[in-house]
Amino acid sequence: MIEKILIANRGEIALRVLRACKEMGIKTVAVHSEADADLKHVLLADESVCIGPAPSTDSYLNVPAIIAAAEVTDAEAIHPGYGFLSENADFAERVEESGFVFIGPKADTIRMMGDKVSAIKAMKASGVPTVPGSGGPLGDNDEENLRIAREIGYPVIIKASGGGGGRGMRVVHTESNLLKSIQLTKSEAGSFFGNPEVYMEKFLENPRHVEIQVLADGQGNAIHLGERDCSMQRRHQKVVEEAPAPGITEEQRQRIGTACAQACIEIGYRGAGTFEFLYENGEFYFIEMNTRLQVEHPVTEQVTGVDLVRAQIEIARGEPLKLKQEDIKINGHAIECRVNAENPSRNFMPSPGKIERLHLPGGIGVRWDSHIYTGYSVPPTYDSMIGKLICYGDNRDTAIARMNGALQELVIKGIDTNIHLQREIMNDPGFVQGGANIHYLEERLEHLV
Ligand code: ADP
Repeated sequence: MIEKILIANRGEIALRVLRACKEMGIKTVAVHSEADADLKHVLLADESVCIGPAPSTDSYLNVPAIIAAAEVTDAEAIHPGYGFLSENADFAERVEESGFVFIGPKADTIRMMGDKVSAIKAMKASGVPTVPGSGGPLGDNDEENLRIAREIGYPVIIKASGGGGGRGMRVVHTESNLLKSIQLTKSEAGSFFGNPEVYMEKFLENPRHVEIQVLADGQGNAIHLGERDCSMQRRHQKVVEEAPAPGITEEQRQRIGTACAQACIEIGYRGAGTFEFLYENGEFYFIEMNTRLQVEHPVTEQVTGVDLVRAQIEIARGEPLKLKQEDIKINGHAIECRVNAENPSRNFMPSPGKIERLHLPGGIGVRWDSHIYTGYSVPPTYDSMIGKLICYGDNRDTAIARMNGALQELVIKGIDTNIHLQREIMNDPGFVQGGANIHYLEERLEHLV
């Protein structure tokens, strides 16, 4: 049994976890920085502990302070949310060594999937389709590296095994640039990630980003919950997400989803997770696995009816998965717009400050996941996302129409936001048609802002 959970995060996701705990009759401990004492979930939690000053390194990434907070409050489990320590294998290990349940996979699984070369190897071994590539780290033999690139075919991309956040990657279009690019990426990877290992992949020119949500209990049971399309991106940051992905057939969904669920069983995966793919010309290519809850998980919840946070907690309690694959049906369509405190017409400059006035949208099929309230001050220290508007309908057109209406109803005064840009996207012909690739939004931005 888990009767008290410490939420090692902030903002909307901390509130999301708190809501699931309340519904399940589980007590909550909020930990927060000095800048975050008036976060909504802190005010609603059964107990709260200040774990340090505003900078994340002193608070939300401060492992000893978080473990100490769990000890003094007698929490039994720690939910890491997303970002911060959620994919930090050493943290997961420390949590479990200290006698708490980590709500997520085992530390070894996080470590394996955090290293892209070992993740790709594991995926290949379980039959998940990967991007044609070196399949392993590049050595120092120039001839061999030139041969690998020729075999893959240009353009290729050199990627750091330990990379993340869209950094440590370099695209190479011609052979004359290959060796220099490998050297540069290696030295960057060494200084950014403390691991100079790099590998090579075919560079896909116009893919979509399509990802598969999974749940696995670590006891031999795993299911997939269909896919999400997250191709609307700016600087590798997702802006709009939807489920299902336009144009993906039930046959494709089952084929790729089954491969992911099977991979979970083979690697002993435990918890919620996401397999990210590039999708081009009808084919899926695995790029990485996220071993945690994702920002965009609500669109999957809306079309499947499954509460993913509740499922995470049930798995952490050691319960076998209740759901079978045949229980998962994709109904209707859901879209999520990320609402950020930023000014799109001023190069997306962050816009922290006090929310003077807030009007929230409502009505059928409208969900608002956010911690903000009138009078709340968005601190300058953290991510600029202040909420997620999720709209659901029987079909994609209805979901878009509801999103349009909801964005018009949503009023946030006192700070700048990207609400207007989101409305432009909802009315953009390429978005409305569906199936745009990962470069589409950046190419359209100059017309939209
Ligand atoms: P990170 O962990 O840094 O996010 P990913 O491996 O997920 O790295 O890649 C981030 C982004 O880089 C992808 O969403 C995609 O836009 C681009 N990318 C990565 N690999 C390729 C590839 N082989 N071909 C084309 N684009 C790629």
